[in-house]
Amino acid sequence: MAVLNATHDAQHRSFVERANLPDCDFPIQNLPFGVFSRANEPARGGVAIGDMIVDLAALARSGLLSGAALKAAEAASGPTLNPLMALGNAPSSALRARLSELLAQGSSDRQAVAACLVPMTEVAMHLPAHIGDFTDFLTSGYHSTRLNPTGKLAANFMSLPIAYHGRASSVRLDGPVRRPHVQRRDGEVVSFGPTKEMDFELELGAFIGAGNRLGDRIAIADASDAIFGHCLINDWSIRDIQRWENVPLGPFLAKSLSTTISPWVVTEEALRPFRAPAFRRAADEPAPLPYLTLKQDQDEGGLDLALTASLLTPRMREAGLAPHKVTDTNFRHMYWTFAQMVTHHASNGCNLQPGDLLGSGTISGPTPGSRACLAELTVRGKEPLHLPNGETRPWLEDGDEVIFAARASRQGYVSIGFGNCRGTVQAAL
Ligand code: CA
Repeated sequence: MAVLNATHDAQHRSFVERANLPDCDFPIQNLPFGVFSRANEPARGGVAIGDMIVDLAALARSGLLSGAALKAAEAASGPTLNPLMALGNAPSSALRARLSELLAQGSSDRQAVAACLVPMTEVAMHLPAHIGDFTDFLTSGYHSTRLNPTGKLAANFMSLPIAYHGRASSVRLDGPVRRPHVQRRDGEVVSFGPTKEMDFELELGAFIGAGNRLGDRIAIADASDAIFGHCLINDWSIRDIQRWENVPLGPFLAKSLSTTISPWVVTEEALRPFRAPAFRRAADEPAPLPYLTLKQDQDEGGLDLALTASLLTPRMREAGLAPHKVTDTNFRHMYWTFAQMVTHHASNGCNLQPGDLLGSGTISGPTPGSRACLAELTVRGKEPLHLPNGETRPWLEDGDEVIFAARASRQGYVSIGFGNCRGTVQAAL
């Protein structure tokens, strides 16, 4: 099993009381990184604990840190986490270990640490990194099969983690996403106008840490350490133009309109107790090639992470109704591991850089309830969703809010979460 340490101890509690509630996404065992600002102050790195944020710039000045932990906090004191990610994972791990002590119940430094805490209610969150490149994979066999007209897995899907280069400039945190104008074809008529087929895709993201130099590769044994941490991704997808533009080069404007991510980056180390075996292939499916195969990755390269997608329509909002869960899935269903994605990505010598973002692809599972986009849930719009208030949805409508959440749980460990990834569809201009 992945190496665990004192920071994973289930008995450990924080003096930040909200962090100890069983449904809290950010207990002392999580300690995810993000970038925040208070009014009239510069953006800087922070760590979530309960309903508070540890201001890493203030902590770096406090005298409470030394060595690698201090180096990490100083690297995270600016408006992006790229300098911290570029250090590789050892310094952020040292900072995590020190924060685990400083934030503990009975901490002898409680007063000095409390001076570095900022309530989440007082801040604006920002993108955690400058994202130089965004790559989106397609690694759920269930998603791939349902959307493939043959109803089978393609030969290349079983042999390599399929991906395309996404658009980094339009990756954003929570907020409105404008319904785009697109070109589409109905029968023989080609037209341009607001999309009629706006969809979400529930994905997990990985931020690259130190990365590799151009020309170098990343061995599968080093691949999970090349990942700094994870966030949730809504890869908004426009199905009418996607069908039309997709052949022969793959997605373009169907995906580049905007991508929404959650603000907190949950580290590889925080997720260690929740590792799971890689997907077990059927006997008649090819084994991955040797460069994508490692026993440790097969044993624990998967992740037992439960993910949900919920929908809140304007009518539901007006009636005071709670968001309705439409997808309940798990990252264990993914055919390829993130380590395999990283190794394959760099296998031609392509340089992955600190802050690059990789998307897993839609995290659909085998059951109807685990379909993780509307194209699957509504069978490409033919079987609309029925919401509890009587509304139906073949695709997203203006004002609809899509909300993602994720929790990792295992007996004997404290469950951790990701916070929310939220976005609302805005009417076309
Ligand atoms: Ca996608």
